[in-house]
Amino acid sequence: MEKIANYIGGELLAPMGGDYLDNIEPATGKVYSLIPRSGSADVELAVKAAQKAFPAWSALSNAERSKHLMAVSNRISEKLDELAMAESKDNGKPLKLAQSVDIPRARDNFAFFATAILHQEDEFHNMGEKGFNYTLRQPLGTVACISPWNLPLYLFTWKIAPALASGNCVVAKPSEVTPFTAYLLSQICMEVGFPAGVLNIVHGLGAETGQAMVEHDLVKAISFTGGTVTGARIAALAAPRFKKMSLELGGKNPNIVFDDCDFDRAVKTSVRAAFANQGQICLCGSRIFVQSGIYEKFKEAFVQRVKGLKVGPPQESDSRMGAVVSKAHMEKILSYIQLAKEEGGTILHGGKQVKLAAPYDGGYYLEPTVIEGLSFDCRVNQEEVFGPLVTLTPFETEEEVLMMANSTEYGLACTVFTQDLNKAHRVAKEIHSGIVWINDWLVRDLRTPFGGMKNSGVGREGGFEALKFFTEAKNVCFNF
Ligand code: NAD
Repeated sequence: MEKIANYIGGELLAPMGGDYLDNIEPATGKVYSLIPRSGSADVELAVKAAQKAFPAWSALSNAERSKHLMAVSNRISEKLDELAMAESKDNGKPLKLAQSVDIPRARDNFAFFATAILHQEDEFHNMGEKGFNYTLRQPLGTVACISPWNLPLYLFTWKIAPALASGNCVVAKPSEVTPFTAYLLSQICMEVGFPAGVLNIVHGLGAETGQAMVEHDLVKAISFTGGTVTGARIAALAAPRFKKMSLELGGKNPNIVFDDCDFDRAVKTSVRAAFANQGQICLCGSRIFVQSGIYEKFKEAFVQRVKGLKVGPPQESDSRMGAVVSKAHMEKILSYIQLAKEEGGTILHGGKQVKLAAPYDGGYYLEPTVIEGLSFDCRVNQEEVFGPLVTLTPFETEEEVLMMANSTEYGLACTVFTQDLNKAHRVAKEIHSGIVWINDWLVRDLRTPFGGMKNSGVGREGGFEALKFFTEAKNVCFNF
């Protein structure tokens, strides 16, 4: 069975303790590779390698660093099909989605930050006759990047690329649930001659490998994407050590459909926002609020469209939904479906596990599930499920829907469907979320600030926000 290796100091290494974890293919439920169960000694080695590489890497010009990052981006492009297949196998997502979204985005993350540093302007504050100030933005040193399982290579590279572009060296940990494409990224770095020690990838469990990174004194910043509970744990460990932190956490996003929307567009986009990647995207719109004038019509059209979403083996071209990521996660989602029934919900579609024929009979497949009749403040409508489960809730007024939409502890993303420009702007202003889409979903411009408010996170990623996060600003004041 294939053993994944750590990538430290430019070499592929076995974990020092010799322990491995099973890597399971969600489509079949079978173990197909082994993941290093790294400990603090492996993290120590990675931090040492990063520290050693830092003086030379940070001394390179932006143009030279850009060339190294572009080489990685180009190689991802050449290996797009291989990486997409690996991502689909490791995560359970449809191969088509990995080919069209995950891997192209990983390629673009490297290219975007490789070129962003060529266009960055420095800050200058003129004091007239008194003199002037300019801001030096200097890399932090060694930083940690820790990512989740839902968009594995996409989110891993979204952190690593800006950290490297701004001159830092990185110790990174992908999710232990989906480690494979991060392993392939190590091989890519070796193939393109990426300088040794600049990027180090250490695999293992969050509470062991991840925590050792967070606690390490020489790690100056932590860029983390994952669950809110984990984020709180990381913040508690990092704050007394005065480390910089960027935390991208959970969501429970509202999708608001007004009477005056473009109906077909609202239905089509809401289905995609609900069930893309089996509902396992932090930005998925899982609470759908529909104005009463079109509620019944929307419900019928929405359910009709959901019925057409084929759940099947991820690599089959007509599968619109693949497997959810793990048995434990499938059971969590099923427990929320049960809870919805107990809370008085009516299941309009789905609600059950899907059993496929061998060799997929051990896989983790769920029907796309649509529920109505729940109060906006019940647990199913307040807690993050992170699966193919959405609720439909009618509303009368703008004021009422804002109250319901803003009622959760989360504040990541929101989608609004209306053709009334003024209303769109009013709702966008009043909604408690870091990202608002009007009449669309998951349209991404990598220059824009990305992140959440309330329990959805602290800080913003994207564009120059990310480059700023990974640097220390130093003001230099000249007095004539
Ligand atoms: P998770 O919090 O369980 O794990 C995320 C990563 O943190 C993994 O690599 C894990 O090994 C590591 N980790 C766990 N405990 C740790 C610790 N004590 N110290 C250091 N690292 C630790 O999250 P998950 O289940 O992998 O991902 C799903 C969650 O991620 C959902 O809540 C989802 O909303 C969120 N998410 C948020 C965004 C966003 O941009 N806001 C994007 C994607 C996913």
